[in-house]
Amino acid sequence: MNKPNILISACLLGNPVRYDGSDLFIDHPLLKAWQEEGRLISICPEVAGGLSTPRAPAEIVPSDTLKIIDSNDLDVSKEFIAGAQKTLELALKNNCAIAIMTESSPSCGSNTIYDGSFSGTKKDGVGVTTALLEKNGIQVFNQHQLDKAISYL
Ligand code: SF4
Repeated sequence: MNKPNILISACLLGNPVRYDGSDLFIDHPLLKAWQEEGRLISICPEVAGGLSTPRAPAEIVPSDTLKIIDSNDLDVSKEFIAGAQKTLELALKNNCAIAIMTESSPSCGSNTIYDGSFSGTKKDGVGVTTALLEKNGIQVFNQHQLDKAISYL
């Protein structure tokens, strides 16, 4: 039986797709092994949703409906939702069993996100893409939970 694929936030593989043009490369033997086995499927949901790099940082703001604004007060909800949908489609197409997503991102966070005040304050919560993946049965781990992820697989 084929080993399952793993969806991963593109910035964790060293792609400079973060809002400020940086990456969050993780040098970990497990990720290296999965990459060599061709099992990592990477995507940046925000870029996939049509946002450019660099871009203004964005946060999910308290609202009756899902609302994401950037630090210039521009509503980027449409792009975030489109990116989440594209990410889910990619994960399903590639039979990804789990996802390794960047913690605290408004798209990829799985335990914490910024609180919408642009003050650097975090709160418990999940990003837009993570929420959609989890709703569709794909278990999400952050980059600090690789041991947990391997046990789950
Ligand atoms: Fe990384 Fe996700 Fe942010 Fe893209 S949206 S830069 S993959 S954390």
